[in-house]
Amino acid sequence: MKNTRAALLRRPLLFAPALLVLPAHAQAPRTPAQMEGPYYPQAIPADADADLLQVAGQPRPARGIPLLLTGLVRGPDGAGLAGARIEIWQADAQGIYLHPRDARLDQRDAGFQGYGRAVADGAGRYAFRTIRPGLYPGRTPHIHLRAQPAGGGAALTTQIYFPGEPRNETDGLLRSMPPAARALLIARVSAVDGGQRAEFDLFLA
Ligand code: FE
Repeated sequence: MKNTRAALLRRPLLFAPALLVLPAHAQAPRTPAQMEGPYYPQAIPADADADLLQVAGQPRPARGIPLLLTGLVRGPDGAGLAGARIEIWQADAQGIYLHPRDARLDQRDAGFQGYGRAVADGAGRYAFRTIRPGLYPGRTPHIHLRAQPAGGGAALTTQIYFPGEPRNETDGLLRSMPPAARALLIARVSAVDGGQRAEFDLFLA
């Protein structure tokens, strides 16, 4: 490993259960939906795995602050949804999306995957390795997410936000929600060796 991110890059994508076990409670509020937005990939990239820091065939990892994004996907009864499918897509460290509609597409970080997929484990846990998304005009930093139970069922499309971001106070999409709903879309962020960790649990209707 050749940089300060070595520890995060080495860390296994799924954690000891003790870190993520929460009491099941059927009354948990459903995760609010948000719009898909214009930047869902027009074509899914050849490398679409859960490690967005490394693109197959690219010699260097993504630029930006490494972020381990983990969470639990639960169904209506509060139980973890084994095998749930999760997709994320987001801007790179400069705020550029992997999408022809992005005017700065030619400047995007080729070392950042921009889109990834994961399948939840037997307890409903998922994990991605990505970066803190960069700013782009008109929005506060966010990660787009879509989750669907194994074998079909209604998909949830939403966006994940970060605590303490100044633009959270002026973001039209985030501010359009009641405070309680807004709070459900803000990840819990902590520092980890080599970067940050964001935890975001999902409750599907
Ligand atoms: Fe966006």
